[in-house]
Amino acid sequence: MKNIKVCKFGGTSMATSESINQVESIVRADDTRKFVVVSAPGKRFKDDIKITDMLYSAVNEKNSVTRRSMILNQIRERFVALANDLGIDFDIASEMDVIEKNIVEGATPAYAASRGEYLSAKLFSAKTGWTFIDAKDLVRFSNGEFDAEYTNDVAKNKLKNIKGRVVIPGFYGVQDDGEIVTFSRGGSDITGAIIARATDAFVYENWTDVDGFLTADPRIVDKPKQIDVLTYAELRELSYMGANVLHPESIFPLKVAKIPINVRNTFAPEKEGTLIVADYNAAKQKSIVTGVAGRKGFTSINIAKSMMNNEIGFGRRVLSVLEHLGVSFEHIPSGIDTLSVFVEDTEIIGKMECVVDKLRSAVNPDTIEIHSGMAIIATVGHGMSDRAGTAARLFTALAKAGVNVRMIDQGSSELNIIVGVDSTDYERSINAIYEEFYLDK
Ligand code: ASP
Repeated sequence: MKNIKVCKFGGTSMATSESINQVESIVRADDTRKFVVVSAPGKRFKDDIKITDMLYSAVNEKNSVTRRSMILNQIRERFVALANDLGIDFDIASEMDVIEKNIVEGATPAYAASRGEYLSAKLFSAKTGWTFIDAKDLVRFSNGEFDAEYTNDVAKNKLKNIKGRVVIPGFYGVQDDGEIVTFSRGGSDITGAIIARATDAFVYENWTDVDGFLTADPRIVDKPKQIDVLTYAELRELSYMGANVLHPESIFPLKVAKIPINVRNTFAPEKEGTLIVADYNAAKQKSIVTGVAGRKGFTSINIAKSMMNNEIGFGRRVLSVLEHLGVSFEHIPSGIDTLSVFVEDTEIIGKMECVVDKLRSAVNPDTIEIHSGMAIIATVGHGMSDRAGTAARLFTALAKAGVNVRMIDQGSSELNIIVGVDSTDYERSINAIYEEFYLDK
């Protein structure tokens, strides 16, 4: 690994001239901070609109030319104001003229959205004097899909002999036909990870507007503790269930190269943030449970049939029904004569009757019951695997809180214990688990 850090700064960090100055001083404070990946300017205050959202609105405004040019003007004005406030001589006007012309002539939403990051990086490069390298020269897509290995080769080659600091726009790349493609929302995190892998960085710093990952959702638990260190695998379990500080896909390029991610706060740079590492030993786990996360909005389809356990192919037939109807499932806890399938409500809107009919004819069950209004909670931690009694503590805490646990599932990695509860018990359950594992510990 090289003595290089890749730093990615999110939308709030790039939103005002003050925050941009702060970003510059953070980067300058450490000589190893060589590669800087930036998001488009985000919200400056609660009801503000992100530049990315404005660009999507502009390109989707097909019916009103006036409205479209109004939005494009607002975007132009925001960048002009930023350049003025930063006191830099950057020709926003001609950049915006090109972008507007392309949008008016029918550019894709991906092209339009990518211009937020593009202009943000151009502006920051003008401010700092650091070299601008376009993401279209580094990040490659094929047939709309991100091409990880191709990208790594291209980016490695392009960045290997660069001297001095570099500014790169996040969020987008290009296909062989020259078409701009973006990652899903929040995708600048992925760009940063890609650059960290390609430059063999020893750490990927992801600078955002929070101190790091929390052990529980602060909207449910009062002032939850922060997670200091966790592993990629733990983060997968937690982010999948709802935490959204970091784009879940940004883990993949880093996992390959075992590069740690350090999530930090641009507005409190003295704090160390959360470190995400490849393996358990390196994580030096202090607590048994790393975090607890969950989500409401699930339905369980409970199928019962006598002698189900003897019927070869039963599970496959159930899952084929879901596959053919395009329904993805979350969990399939089972008993001797019962099998339940947990699906997210959004997966089965308008399809429930059809799912039940098809299941009836596929497996001829004794009963099928639908139980909606469920929440799923994952209690995650590598520390759970080698300590007896964790499950007992968890279920005792839930029982004491008067929660009826409707489903239990433990991954084979023993990394998590997943429970299904009624949505009405959701907040109570999270608090009970948090109190059991974190308070005064
Ligand atoms: N600007 C894009 C978004 O708002 C990408 C990013 O910020 O990571 O989703």
